Amino acid sequence: MIKNNNIKKEINRIVSNKLCTGCGACILFDQSNKSKMINNQFGPIPSFHNDAIFKTNPLDYCPGHIIDYDDLYKSVYGTYPDNWLIGNYENIYIGYSKDNQIRSNSSSGGILTHILVYLLRNQLIDQAIIVKQGIPLPYKASVMFAKNEETIKNSSQSVYTPVSMLDILKNLDSKKKYAITLLPDQAAVLRKLQKDDLFNSNCIKFVLGPYTGTQIDSRALNYFYKRNKINNLKDIKSIKWRAGEWPGYLEILTHSGKIVRSKKVYYNFLIPFYITNSSLLSIDFTNELADISVGDAWSPKYEKIGKGFSIITSRTQKMDILLKKMQEEDLIHLEKKDWESVSFMHGHMLDFKKRGTFIRIKIRKFFGLRSPKYTLKPVNLPLSRFFVEIINLLIFSICRTHLARQLLNFIPEPFIGHVFNRLRLKWKSLSKPTKRKGLKNYKMKNSYDD
Ligand SMILES: Cc1cc2nc3c(=O)[nH]c(=O)nc-3n(C[C@H](O)[C@H](O)[C@H](O)COP(=O)(O)OP(=O)(O)OC[C@H]3O[C@@H](n4cnc5c(N)ncnc54)[C@H](O)[C@@H]3O)c2cc1C
Repeated sequence: MIKNNNIKKEINRIVSNKLCTGCGACILFDQSNKSKMINNQFGPIPSFHNDAIFKTNPLDYCPGHIIDYDDLYKSVYGTYPDNWLIGNYENIYIGYSKDNQIRSNSSSGGILTHILVYLLRNQLIDQAIIVKQGIPLPYKASVMFAKNEETIKNSSQSVYTPVSMLDILKNLDSKKKYAITLLPDQAAVLRKLQKDDLFNSNCIKFVLGPYTGTQIDSRALNYFYKRNKINNLKDIKSIKWRAGEWPGYLEILTHSGKIVRSKKVYYNFLIPFYITNSSLLSIDFTNELADISVGDAWSPKYEKIGKGFSIITSRTQKMDILLKKMQEEDLIHLEKKDWESVSFMHGHMLDFKKRGTFIRIKIRKFFGLRSPKYTLKPVNLPLSRFFVEIINLLIFSICRTHLARQLLNFIPEPFIGHVFNRLRLKWKSLSKPTKRKGLKNYKMKNSYDD
């Protein structure tokens, strides 16, 4: 057994340094089974019971402390990726669900929802582990077991605030088969748990994940509550993050009949004010350890059509075979693409994670701040890229102050949404030459010696 207090102290330090991603894995290691994840104003954090006792050190599985990507690439795929920006993969597709209801109710093309439905319908899984906005209350979101198609379909759409996922593993039934939707840090932890055969994690047969750029902390929606005079959270009837036709809008409905809507491209203004540290410190945008990862197919061609298009990265053979079967059965539309032809869709965010994060970690180190360890680092970080990141960090640092957040509450959404979108596009095009320079040839090497 390991001394409780040292472990609790270390994990509490990770939480107080705002490095906890809220994944929920550490709770699993408490043999007393009395610890749990709780929600504070930022999102989920662990709360250890006085009786907590550990046989294995949860810190080895804590993404706020370490993710051993060097080992994970080798243990999951047997090799480093050829493409260091998006990780190992079988195929890349642009696609969507051919079930119009699934497609139109989902975040992008409804691919994640349709795969889960297919797995359940064909008894390849007994249950899906997913996230649903509205559980236990309309303004909250939680992980849950879905045992039927209706529940899966009703849980479509992304939840952009943190949700604890892995603590639910303590309720897995070793005789059942599961699929799960996870963010990149959570998928990395699950892969390590599976490698070490802990907590029935190998009953999870399929890991599905969204591409994950930025997450916003749980207070972000206060802006909309305040601006729209929703003074009592009990008045909220429902929240959808991607309502309406793709790319969709945030929609808040109240019992008193109020409807608040903000276009996806507009409510992005919340990002610099409420971006989580885990988004700033993650190096995985495309969910490299999931069997399949899916993002929005951002491109003028598809955005003009609307309806919903996804970029789909199948990473394991079994998932690629499954996709092709679904295509043969006319359930989903798939267009195979090579990386070169789709790399423009997410170049900005790939740079933000694969180079920006390492620069942010270096800057944190300079100021004596802790960061997670990743056991890999870029072979080369151009000096010019540091200047872009200093501007990014200045923007985030100013926007995330209490004063800036208070001032934001005075600015109407149509104005800030519009202005922010213009500024974002301007900054993107100004910084594009620096951000794209050398990105195509991005490579990593191990950093165990650092
Ligand atoms: C925090 C976050 C940030 C993202 N950032 C980007 C980005 O920068 N660029 C981009 O292209 N795409 C991003 N995405 C992905 C995008 O929003 C869609 O999830 C993706 O395109 C899949 O669409 P879909 O229609 O196939 O998913 P859907 O069919 O709508 O299914 C989504 C599934 O994911 C589950 N889910 C929702 N939220 C979570 C969550 N927080 N954790 C675990 N499971 C969840 C749902 O339960 C559902 O089963 C992000 C998603 C999230 C959650």
